Amino acid sequence: MWTNWAGNQRAQTLITRPSSVAELQRVVAQPDSLRVVGAGHSFTPIVAGADRILDLSGLDLPTLGKVGENRVWVNANARLWDLSPALADHGLAFRNLGDINAQSLAGAASTATHGTGRSLPCLAAEITAAKLVGADGDILSTDDVPLEMVQVSLGLLGVLTEAQVSLVPKYNLRRRVRLARIEDTLTHMHQKWADHRNFEFFYLPFTGRAVEIQHELTADPETKAPFDLDMIAVKALKLARNAGRISPGLRRMLLHLLTLAQSDEDYVGESWRVLCSDRRIRFKEMEYHLPPEVAEDVLQEVLTRLHRNHQDIYFPIEVRQTAGDTACLSPFQGGPRISIAIHSDVDEDHAPFFDAIEPLLVEAGGRPHWGKMHSLTYNTLSELYPDFDRFCALREQLDPAGKFLTPALARLFQP
Ligand SMILES: Cc1cc2nc3c(=O)[nH]c(=O)nc-3n(C[C@H](O)[C@H](O)[C@H](O)COP(=O)(O)OP(=O)(O)OC[C@H]3O[C@@H](n4cnc5c(N)ncnc54)[C@H](O)[C@@H]3O)c2cc1C
Repeated sequence: MWTNWAGNQRAQTLITRPSSVAELQRVVAQPDSLRVVGAGHSFTPIVAGADRILDLSGLDLPTLGKVGENRVWVNANARLWDLSPALADHGLAFRNLGDINAQSLAGAASTATHGTGRSLPCLAAEITAAKLVGADGDILSTDDVPLEMVQVSLGLLGVLTEAQVSLVPKYNLRRRVRLARIEDTLTHMHQKWADHRNFEFFYLPFTGRAVEIQHELTADPETKAPFDLDMIAVKALKLARNAGRISPGLRRMLLHLLTLAQSDEDYVGESWRVLCSDRRIRFKEMEYHLPPEVAEDVLQEVLTRLHRNHQDIYFPIEVRQTAGDTACLSPFQGGPRISIAIHSDVDEDHAPFFDAIEPLLVEAGGRPHWGKMHSLTYNTLSELYPDFDRFCALREQLDPAGKFLTPALARLFQP
């Protein structure tokens, strides 16, 4: 049985692992419906639900193809953690990355995976050309299908095999981490995004404190990577939550001790090592991307609702910003967006919290992350994206039999 990383999506489906593009073409040409899996790190039903799942990790394509000055053809199904060191060997790097690098490039791009940085776009926007296997098994390219349709396409237009990505010379980053009062963070967040290459923060529930993280380019020598305390911090937050069920005062005391134990960090290393870390504690997540001007008010209201009604929540709330781009289904299409991500324990019921917060994010004009939990369907989505119907028409034209369209995806992409 296939399950995603969080274990909230499952399929009793045949998994097919073609080893060459020709074999992939033959598999796709069969009448079975199919979905491709990358690293299975999406929380939504965008992989399960078809007759077959295709795992392309064994495709006989080199990790890197032709290396240009700042553009390289890569195996679209390679994991980001394999691509970064391979690119570094050629003096190149991704302009930006998200919190982890376990995803395949195709999987990450297909859902508009992003990091943080007001002038830094999501990964999909870095794709400058691509090759796909279309629904009838033929090879297509971005000469046949518009690039801005392919960049973020959830596997609905075809199976990505190779992508040309725009890159920058490899660089080192200095990461600084500090604890701040959440009121100060909210007051100064726009300035911090203006001042720092990358800026983000995590609000620690029921502490009044945010962990602020900023990155700058640096020529300073690399330092020893700090011990990753994220896992311990999340465990401590859960312990305090559990203690709070016996005594709210005990929770307050433990959280106070946790914030005292939070030490500032200053670390210099290669960009991808500094930007990405392991996430070993599993969770469920919802993330919406909002117009920057509404983010502060929305965040205040998220915190009010959290503090008032959701004492069981202990996972931090993550806030980032991403530059705008032109991909039709990119949540960042048309301008920068501030992303608010809420999480719940993987084994606990997320619905009371997520259902209480989602309407607020939608009313504020937020667009959901395609790979994270949300409840939107065609009617709302088509209002959120100016080119949504153009994408749906192209999908219908390229895949009239709905080979890549599961019932769950049809609720999103069909009226
Ligand atoms: C611990 C964790 C941390 C995360 N951190 C971030 C973050 O910092 N920023 C962020 O934006 N998101 C983040 N995410 C979400 C994650 O980046 C996305 O859900 C991403 O899509 C997962 O990539 P994947 O390779 O696992 O793809 P999958 O989840 O396996 O697939 C995603 C989509 O891509 C399609 N797809 C995969 N390969 C192909 C292909 N070859 N051709 C066509 N379609 C294909 C699939 O069919 C599916 O529709 C995180 C998720 C987890 C679990």
